[in-house]
Amino acid sequence: MFSKILIANRGEIACRVINTARRLGIRTVAVYSDADRGSLHVALADEAVHIGPAAASESYLSKEKIVAAAKRTGAEAIHPGYGFLSENADFAEAIEAAGLVFIGPSPASIRAMGLKDAAKALMERAGVPVVPGYHGDGQEPGFLAEQANGIGFPVLIKARAGGGGKGMRRVDRSEDFASSLEAAKREAKSAFGDDAVLIEKYLIKPRHIEIQVFGDSHGKAVHLFERDCSLQRRHQKVIEEAPAPGMTEEMRRAMGEAAVRAARAIDYRGAGTVEFIADVSEGLSPDRFFFMEMNTRLQVEHPVTEAIAGVDLVEWQLRVASGEPLPKSQDELTINGWAFEARIYAEDPSRGFLPATGTLSHLRFPAGDVRIDAGVREGDTITPHYDPLIAKLTVHAPDRQSALARLTRGLEQTQVAGTTTNLDFLIRLSRQPDFAAGHPDTGLIDRDVEMLTSAQQPDDAALAVAAIVEAGGFAQADGDNPWLSLGPWQLWGEASRPVTLHYDHGQTHCRVAAKEKALFSVALEGRGILVRLLAGEGEARRVEIDGRQSSVTVFEASNGTTLFMDGQTHHFHRHDPLDGGEEAAAGGDRLIAPMPGLVKIVRVREGDVVAKGQPLIVMEAMKMELTLTAMRDGIVGSLNVGEGDQTSESAVLLSLRPEDAT
Ligand code: ADP
Repeated sequence: MFSKILIANRGEIACRVINTARRLGIRTVAVYSDADRGSLHVALADEAVHIGPAAASESYLSKEKIVAAAKRTGAEAIHPGYGFLSENADFAEAIEAAGLVFIGPSPASIRAMGLKDAAKALMERAGVPVVPGYHGDGQEPGFLAEQANGIGFPVLIKARAGGGGKGMRRVDRSEDFASSLEAAKREAKSAFGDDAVLIEKYLIKPRHIEIQVFGDSHGKAVHLFERDCSLQRRHQKVIEEAPAPGMTEEMRRAMGEAAVRAARAIDYRGAGTVEFIADVSEGLSPDRFFFMEMNTRLQVEHPVTEAIAGVDLVEWQLRVASGEPLPKSQDELTINGWAFEARIYAEDPSRGFLPATGTLSHLRFPAGDVRIDAGVREGDTITPHYDPLIAKLTVHAPDRQSALARLTRGLEQTQVAGTTTNLDFLIRLSRQPDFAAGHPDTGLIDRDVEMLTSAQQPDDAALAVAAIVEAGGFAQADGDNPWLSLGPWQLWGEASRPVTLHYDHGQTHCRVAAKEKALFSVALEGRGILVRLLAGEGEARRVEIDGRQSSVTVFEASNGTTLFMDGQTHHFHRHDPLDGGEEAAAGGDRLIAPMPGLVKIVRVREGDVVAKGQPLIVMEAMKMELTLTAMRDGIVGSLNVGEGDQTSESAVLLSLRPEDAT
């Protein structure tokens, strides 16, 4: 076994590999770009080497720099993770030429599967069923059009160098073929520098079922069953599961044997995935699955296989790469229970899944019962440089129904503030009736996209709680800052305050009245809601709303308040994003840290009277000193930091006592 390896990747997969290496007593070397100097994978590794600027082309994609880093640190082997250089045969070759071990297949195996057309031809020869279509050398448009007519519409044009769904076009009618071909070729040329395409019969309502395979350097190969990755958006996987619902023993055997034949045909070593598409127009059937492509690396969704097969695939990779035989034979592998994985991304489903960025000012994962593979921690920033994956959440239970329930619950208990995420989309998807019933297909998300992604208005309960937070009621209930005794709040015997809540797709005016300590009534555009704040557990607080209790976690930051309640995330903007935001914020109650940093000087104490513009706190951040001044005249209500404290971005440093705003 190796004593030291280098991980040529970043984010969750780098952390994932480091964890297993550490468990096996192997030292780890991380590599990082300028954007990742403080990233989790760097902190977890025993050593780390800087390899260049943020742009992946000059860092994580630089073969020379990575091989040099391995040489310099005395690493014996390089794990490529997924993405970046993981399926680059030249990289594997350069590693071998440097006298190191590539933790993956041989360069020849990678090349054999590198182009979809050649791979299909090879698989046909090995007796593996392939999707009917044309995958020869002819690229003349008229000739391809003839082929398409022969196959019969609809057809799918695919870039042979394709990946990530790029250069792919579905064509439904003969008369559209020429223009779609042109578009697919253009896209393929710009994405892969290769515009050659193949044409496949387009299957209606198919399922994506893939087989995990593993080979060693002693001529053995096994499969570790299937994963169903049919829930896709723009050909990208969203939620994966293992085993595949409805799979029969007969079909599993047929697919597993075909996948192992594929691996043997290229003397495969290490972890690989053979992707099949299954025509399920008449249910799963052993004669209706077809090879699509083979990924010669570890897949993102490998944890579901690990869960049901009870193995650590990274451990297998390390053992096999160091020359050991496969840890288990086919007969020793069995399926235990059911697993799901969901990919939690910084992206905005209500805006066409636009990738999002931001600093994860608050990040909580559910405890127990779930596996979290995260590449970030609280306070880290999702930058535009790399894939905006926050974490993968994997659950495992004895049967599909309980695993699915666990998935929904795990997603509901995940809390992220500071960026927009796809959590709510994943939760709705986990409850989608066809999926819940075990009938996923690759078109499911598109058919239901409206229901799955429409922006949801906060409900009355969330609005009422947010209004109380905004009015300072949570702080009042927590401390002995006696809101009720504040003179101006007392109006005709009852303290009351107007609040306007701004959220993404609207705003609501309400009035909050304090009835007694921790009891409030909120008037929401005519509807009256009674809210009692109760004690909570940890960060969460119980609230009783019109006689029904919920758990609420409140996270306040400079840009607004985030409420985690009943499994949903609601963000309320500090001010109307449409009207001159800066000024409104400047007149607010809270002094917010504009960036993460060190509190150097605190010039005030609780109870001090301050004037607008008066220096209150001096921070040091990014080697600069920053003087933060009072946003308005007022009295310091609560001081949350002391000299020498480190704060995260958007932390509330101090609050002025709320004034009468009636
Ligand atoms: P990429 O390498 O770009 O990811 P794949 O060949 O793996 O492309 O296909 C990606 C997805 O596209 C599949 O998971 C499936 O949902 C869909 N797809 C691929 N081939 C077909 C086909 N012949 N008919 C219908 N859908 C297909």
